Amino acid sequence: MKFPPDENRENHVSVWDVIVIGAGVAGSVLSRELAREGLRTLLVESKPFPRPKVCGSCFNGLALSVFEQTGLMHAVHAAGAVPLARFEAMRRGRILKVPIFEGLAVSRTAIDENLARAAVESGVTFRDGTTAVVASSRPETSFREVRLHTREGVRTVAAKVVIVAAGLGRTCFEADSVHRSRFAKHARIGAGCILAEAPASFRPGVIHMAIGRSGYLGLVRVEHGLLNVAGAFAPDFVKLHGSPGAAAVEVLRESGFANIPGLADGKWSGTPPLTRRTRPLADDRVFLVGDAAGYVEPFTGEGMGWALASAMALKPIVLRAAECWNPQLSAQWESTYERIVGRRQGICRILAAILNRPALSSMVFRVARVAPALTTRIVRRIDAPSPPVPESMIAT
Ligand SMILES: Cc1cc2nc3c(=O)[nH]c(=O)nc-3n(C[C@H](O)[C@H](O)[C@H](O)COP(=O)(O)OP(=O)(O)OC[C@H]3O[C@@H](n4cnc5c(N)ncnc54)[C@H](O)[C@@H]3O)c2cc1C
Repeated sequence: MKFPPDENRENHVSVWDVIVIGAGVAGSVLSRELAREGLRTLLVESKPFPRPKVCGSCFNGLALSVFEQTGLMHAVHAAGAVPLARFEAMRRGRILKVPIFEGLAVSRTAIDENLARAAVESGVTFRDGTTAVVASSRPETSFREVRLHTREGVRTVAAKVVIVAAGLGRTCFEADSVHRSRFAKHARIGAGCILAEAPASFRPGVIHMAIGRSGYLGLVRVEHGLLNVAGAFAPDFVKLHGSPGAAAVEVLRESGFANIPGLADGKWSGTPPLTRRTRPLADDRVFLVGDAAGYVEPFTGEGMGWALASAMALKPIVLRAAECWNPQLSAQWESTYERIVGRRQGICRILAAILNRPALSSMVFRVARVAPALTTRIVRRIDAPSPPVPESMIAT
């Protein structure tokens, strides 16, 4: 991806105000917000852009409220986002239809590129193809070092504040880091691909959710009529079928949705185990946000909403930290994150646990079919925007 060169500026800045690691939705939006506040901000991304990303690619009301708030809706529409009207889940040939009040579908390849571009236009320096590793803390200094690994070699830079928005990827800390990830016992793995051709029964505006015994699959039309396919599977189930594509074909068959020719041979990418929690959420001049802080299975399609809402809640804390570091800001972030995301993830943890138990999930599916009003209420609750963090709650 070609971004305007900014070598001059980078060469003259040895200590940045902020380094943001990861140009997913959280990293790009937060880095842009910080640059707009006048902070010298470096955004580092390990993959060359544009890049695909395993994701259902559906933005819910919470995510869209952040784009509205930050003036980024144009970037979403320019990527060709498709409005969503309905969620249709199919299990053993039975269908559950739930209206969607607010939602858009757009591939992560397209939207993430637009968000990174918007960040650059607001003054962020962006380096893709660069893997960042946060160096061990040296509390006697007034910055935190970060090692940047590129094909050319390793370079050390530093910042008053480092934000880890690196998603579910490998750890981006040196070995003696205090941060530890705990994975759920039966965590599923994610996989996804994009198909150019698919049966017309997969209609634009509908999230088709195929539910099988050992996994589920979300299928949605994104820009240019492409079909985005993403699922979560028990690791043994993928092993049994030999590949994520073959596992997806089996889930689709079990659910009762139409077969998609070529699905098994799509260009599939995978993820590490999904449901996890990383703690602490902050350390000397470092904050974790988005999936890097913790994630619950994607069934309700909220990950990007959580990532974006938590990024916005972190913004005032980072502004304070860049002005003057105060260790209390770490505790501040832990409690703010719990308030913004922790409670919302509770509903999804319960759903993930239900989906892991076929008998229970069959019962819940039946109840949801006969009580659509209850299902709709849950969807509305999940979609609700987060209140902003009051200034008075941020440590000085
Ligand atoms: C199967 C599946 C379906 C999903 N469906 C939906 C859905 O429909 N709707 C929804 O809202 N959410 C969905 N999600 C969740 C959503 O994808 C994530 O919650 C969201 O992408 C988190 O955003 P993020 O910015 O925290 O991280 P990411 O979007 O994962 O971005 C992290 C970035 O950091 C980069 N990176 C990693 N390590 C480094 C490093 N060391 N140095 C530099 N860069 C690094 C990565 O390459 C990546 O680009 C789904 C997830 C899965 C697995």
